[in-house]
Amino acid sequence: MHTCCAPCAICVINEAKKDDLSVTGFFYNSNIHPRPEYLKRMEVARKYFKSEGLEFIFLTYEPADFMETLQMETPRRNGVSPKSGVSPSGVSPSVPPRCSACWEMRVAKSVDFAQNNGFDFFTTTLLGSPYQDHGALRGICEDLSRSTGVRFYYKDFRTGFRRAHNIAREKGIYCQKYCGCVFSIVEREEARKRKK
Ligand code: SF4
Repeated sequence: MHTCCAPCAICVINEAKKDDLSVTGFFYNSNIHPRPEYLKRMEVARKYFKSEGLEFIFLTYEPADFMETLQMETPRRNGVSPKSGVSPSGVSPSVPPRCSACWEMRVAKSVDFAQNNGFDFFTTTLLGSPYQDHGALRGICEDLSRSTGVRFYYKDFRTGFRRAHNIAREKGIYCQKYCGCVFSIVEREEARKRKK
């Protein structure tokens, strides 16, 4: 399970338990800025998985991966996904190319890991967030499943978002205040100023 953060992981783990599935967390989020925030989200997620008795895997922080992905976003706009090489059929024209490229970068790495390590399914905690474009994400996952043959575990995990975040707050689990990249920090600040 590609894991973006602990609170969203709670949504998906709760659903996977209902389906009698064992989950392994895969933390690959080189979009997160700055490094201390990345380390904080990773450590919080790692501790949560440990408390649930679940395996947790993380990759090295490589912000250059994210910047490179953004530079490759032009081919996607021409109708071909830079990572999977498939047409991003589920991506709505309203989704910023930056975000669809970011989602695909992270999920594609997770699918690749699942494929090379004998996992039955993949999914992503991003599907548990009402702040992401669920339809676009689902389309990216379906495309990756088709192109790799790794099965996609899908549910609308957003139905458990509120409950999961209440659990996170009760347990004192850190909930981040912005999506992740440097652009989302700027956007948050701009939104704050507009509200004043
Ligand atoms: S806003 Fe979020 S999804 Fe979009 S590029 Fe930044 S980190 Fe990725």
